[in-house]
Amino acid sequence: MRRKVLDILTLVPCLALFTQAQQAPPKIELIPVAGPVYMVQGGGGNIGIVADEAGLVMIDAMFERAAAGIRDAVKALPGGDRVRFLVNTHWHSDHTDGNKAFGPTAVILSHENVRALVAKDQSLMGGTIRALPASALPAITFSDTLTLYAGGQAIRLVHFPRAHTDGDTVVFIDGLKVVHMGDMFFNGMFPFLDVANGGDIDNWVRDLDTVLAGLPADAKIIPGHGPLAGVAELRAFRGMLVSSADLVRKQMKAGKTLDEIKAAGLPPDLEAWAKGFLKPAQWLELVYRSLEKNGK
Ligand SMILES: [Zn+2]
Repeated sequence: MRRKVLDILTLVPCLALFTQAQQAPPKIELIPVAGPVYMVQGGGGNIGIVADEAGLVMIDAMFERAAAGIRDAVKALPGGDRVRFLVNTHWHSDHTDGNKAFGPTAVILSHENVRALVAKDQSLMGGTIRALPASALPAITFSDTLTLYAGGQAIRLVHFPRAHTDGDTVVFIDGLKVVHMGDMFFNGMFPFLDVANGGDIDNWVRDLDTVLAGLPADAKIIPGHGPLAGVAELRAFRGMLVSSADLVRKQMKAGKTLDEIKAAGLPPDLEAWAKGFLKPAQWLELVYRSLEKNGK
């Protein structure tokens, strides 16, 4: 089964998010979120920053080539001359490659499954993601939850197993009604679904319900990709996952093959989400593989 999943991933053309490492330094933007919390956008998965005189807390690290732009964007913030703690929301390189730049001087924290994956070479999308060097590996891991204190806030790291991957962490800053979702939320576009490493569309929906149940109506939500969002956008994303799973499940139950499901395509309301990394056929295939692996 594992072999089959990897074969399928080779059919997905190199997604922008995993190939940006090869390109020129990106344009990095700093966006205020609430109080000492900021979002950094432009060089991989979105970063969350909590400013603190003792040094920044940084949530995700983009690609290494974005590091100079990130340092420049945050340098005027309190504590902006150094990253004290770096949290990895999951193992994908558009969120962890920058560990190589920040790791030697920051304490990196992640779920234990993330450290296990980034410590070894991984096959993904038909290519090899190289293991991170020792200085870029998480120094502290956790299995369920962990709380950091910075910027006058409690920063809660909570593991959600089997959603986008098997190691997703959602970061809650309850006092400011802010949450960083990592790649459990692609705002306005189809997400990647890492079926080979524990991704599961049905469980992802249940995890989003858990998150949504605890969020105030005016929460500010940092997605892994796409613009800063609110509860309405996260609900819409959840709805898209449910509709996609229902659409594919119905056809699988009717005996349709993957090729037939791809050929049938998407209704217009789902088609509208194909403006990010994935084309409709690629998204349908990921949904199909998740349902095939994890039960219909
Ligand atoms: Zn990801």
